[in-house]
Amino acid sequence: MNTEKTYATYLDHMDELSKFRQEFYMPEDTIYLDGNSLGLLSKRGEQAIDDVVNSWKKYAIDGWTEGENPWYYLSEKLGAMTAPLIGAEANEVIVTGSTTTNLHQLVASFYKPDGKKTKILADELNFPSDIYALKSQLKLKGYQPDEHLIQVASNDGNTLKTEDIVKKMTDEVTLIILPGVLYRSGQILDMEKLTKEAHKRGILIGFDLCHSIGSIPHHLSEWGVDFAFWCTYKHLNAGPGSVAGLYVNKRHFGNEPGLAGWYSSAKDKQFDMEHTLTPAADAGAYQIGTPHLLSAAPLLGSLEMFQEAGINQIRQKSLQLTTYLMELIESELADFGFTIANPTNDKMRGGHVFLEHKDAARICKALKADGVIPDFRKPNGIRLAPVALYNTFEEVWNTVQILKTIMKEERFKKYQNERGVIA
Ligand SMILES: *Cc1c(COP(=O)(O)O)cnc(C)c1O
Repeated sequence: MNTEKTYATYLDHMDELSKFRQEFYMPEDTIYLDGNSLGLLSKRGEQAIDDVVNSWKKYAIDGWTEGENPWYYLSEKLGAMTAPLIGAEANEVIVTGSTTTNLHQLVASFYKPDGKKTKILADELNFPSDIYALKSQLKLKGYQPDEHLIQVASNDGNTLKTEDIVKKMTDEVTLIILPGVLYRSGQILDMEKLTKEAHKRGILIGFDLCHSIGSIPHHLSEWGVDFAFWCTYKHLNAGPGSVAGLYVNKRHFGNEPGLAGWYSSAKDKQFDMEHTLTPAADAGAYQIGTPHLLSAAPLLGSLEMFQEAGINQIRQKSLQLTTYLMELIESELADFGFTIANPTNDKMRGGHVFLEHKDAARICKALKADGVIPDFRKPNGIRLAPVALYNTFEEVWNTVQILKTIMKEERFKKYQNERGVIA
């Protein structure tokens, strides 16, 4: 392992994606390693917001059908632009709603308890919002979450074993919801295998791609996944509260959505204003109401860059960055009590490194004070996400040196070991 700074400089020099960094607004004097929580604004994203505003100025109501990106078709267009990131066909994807509302929509559509098959299978490590949504969907159907939501346990508090999940696929389970990449440890679940095992047992399966989309390639259609959903403000850099997305496998086309609204309509029928819904023949049917255009716009600019860079190249650089980060941590920080708690092999590691340390909360505060933006996750986790489109190897090198100084000089000790309001 070469721990010299010149090696980082060399890696940056060799990096074919380095040109994208200048497209982003990098916060000044800061090493931003939190792009998996809130991705940075790009110039193209900003331009796309301006374009929608200008369309509104220029065309007013006619903006729905006029201009470069008529608003009436934007959700479909953005869906088509997203499709290559997840291995889907264009009309299997729609940009709409938020992660949590899309999960509600998809469970309302695909959870069909029948006889003995009444249970939903999830895991105990998923993001709370997903679990809240599943519990409330069960209650809406008159089922007790305590009995009807099964959460696969983790042995180590950080990762899940495929065989443990498969074991829980009993004949009482009708639907499975799991993350593609776990938000704390960054573990990638074997979506292909899990889908196969679920289908063997007549169970539908959907994935939350919040931490995987824009970070790793997916082949949802090839794998036969039933549905998926995700946010766009993490690796996709579409801004705080940006409009989310969902995928529905085309073999499920032609059904009514569980939660209908006039935007669920076939587009040519929508303005017939009839009281009987004619649902869109594709993933568009899972929309509900008028799209939030100002919050969808930045995706236009951002997805263009993903198209140009290519998700495979992004993944390759991301793996290089996280490998480099882990190697430096092992060689430079060995004496300071850190544990690398993400899976280390390339097949199971998502886009971030997850460190555990008993003083994690205050180490994060010390890092922030020294210009490195990490992400604290209760109770003892530090997420560091070097993002392929805008972070450099030199930033990774500098981060480890800064962290080493913080530990050596015990600078973290002047802070309380507690999380802030937003951790
Ligand atoms: C970020 C994230 C969410 C957030 O849901 P929103 O509806 O966008 O607030 C949900 N689930 C997972 C797994 C996430 O990582």
